Amino acid sequence: MNKLAFATISELRKKLENKELSHSELADFFIKRFEEHDEKIGSALEIFDKDSILQASFKEDSSLKSSALNGRLNGIPGLIKDNICQQGRITSCASKILENFRSTYDATASKRLKDAGALILGRANCDEFATGSSTETSAFKKTMNPWDLSRVPGGSSGGSAAAVAAGFVPWSLGSDTGGSVRQPAAFCGIVGSKPTYGLVSRYGLIAYGSSLDQIGVFSRTVYDNALVLSAMAGHDQKDSTTLQIDKKDYTSNLTGKIKPGLRIGIIQDALNADGMDKEVSSAIEDAVKVLESLGASIKRVSMKTLDYGAATYFVTSRAELASNLSRFDGSKYGFRSPDSKTLNDMYFNTRHDGFGTEVKTRILVGNYVLSAGYAGQFYENANKARQAIREEFKTLFSDIDLLVMPTAPVPAFKFGAFAMDKLQMDLQDYFTCPVNLAGIPAISIPCGFTKQDNLPIGFQIIGPHLSEELIFQTAHAYEQSTDWHKMTPEGF
Ligand code: GLN
Repeated sequence: MNKLAFATISELRKKLENKELSHSELADFFIKRFEEHDEKIGSALEIFDKDSILQASFKEDSSLKSSALNGRLNGIPGLIKDNICQQGRITSCASKILENFRSTYDATASKRLKDAGALILGRANCDEFATGSSTETSAFKKTMNPWDLSRVPGGSSGGSAAAVAAGFVPWSLGSDTGGSVRQPAAFCGIVGSKPTYGLVSRYGLIAYGSSLDQIGVFSRTVYDNALVLSAMAGHDQKDSTTLQIDKKDYTSNLTGKIKPGLRIGIIQDALNADGMDKEVSSAIEDAVKVLESLGASIKRVSMKTLDYGAATYFVTSRAELASNLSRFDGSKYGFRSPDSKTLNDMYFNTRHDGFGTEVKTRILVGNYVLSAGYAGQFYENANKARQAIREEFKTLFSDIDLLVMPTAPVPAFKFGAFAMDKLQMDLQDYFTCPVNLAGIPAISIPCGFTKQDNLPIGFQIIGPHLSEELIFQTAHAYEQSTDWHKMTPEGF
């Protein structure tokens, strides 16, 4: 293992402050990591040249001394999923339709990280328009799981997760509409968080499901995760769905201890669900024991609406995707199919040639569930089920503080495993998408490895709206009393 490659953000900052390394040398080191190893993994769609990276973000340490983060991210390299705009860079959403589309502005998340001095090295591969659970729907390339190159890294933010797991960068951004940060984090053995809806601005995040989308952070430790979120979170005039809350430092209560009297519920139905991998359930049972030994009181609870999550998400996400993607028709953004005779032909040909099969299938389903005559049966029913899911979470949180659930029912699967069984692929979202439907926050953290294949396992800690501080504190205490986050894949 290369120690510098797997260093935490604080360790890297120390090296910069002690002048063991300059900003420029640190950037070189991580750019070289991609050059040397990313051919095997395929995590990045593009790594920028060093001068332009530094030019976009570089700050003298002294200029950030009085900032909220006190320069703690200054000079620290990361990678951004290719559906989050970076000014002057391509934002392709891993789709042919935006292959050459250049953003004219920064997403608020990109802007705030640059303002904090973080270096954005490039663009991460993902499922096309974030539609998938394996990164296999990218129009450009496959991303391999660093723990086993014959397996997927999860999705849709698979490139962002794989890059952090392989020690190419200490942090990255993904977007989580139904689980796309948490599931790849679990598959790659790292930490992935999905904030409360409205905590992080969606300005400049190319929309998939606008009522579900949130930008989330990947990292190898809970502290690093909380630090990057602190730089991005908070109200933004450019996104009216952001919440009016003060900026916070989410690292401030990471003491290694849990809150006195913490009550944790474990959703028993989830552990007993059909198709649940035995090793995954037993790793989560072990994690619960650790939380108990840290002083938490554990209650077994059941969640009646859990079974409605995936179906509800299926309808809502497709409906919103179909609406959001209607803007890509060749007239404004990106690719336009040449040689069309009429305007209608141009729309048709552009969308036919520009979108991949998964996206086109979802657009068809989305328009169907929204269409006159069917909307009542599908879209409106999904809204009712969504409300019931929100209510049940609320009821559960009336006498517990946090919930524990698996992140995914299985560890990382092989490429093509679900090519003939799309329903199984959609069921990947089973435990993650209820959280998006309710708009609440959750984190996935590593809790073990499968015995035979040595594949990482993760579990989710879920809390009520705006409980990020409690989630991070609890996740951090768990992490500090286990060694899972110290494991690194071989060969990097
Ligand atoms: N797997 C889910 C889907 O395909 C989640 C995607 C996401 O969160 N972006 O829709």
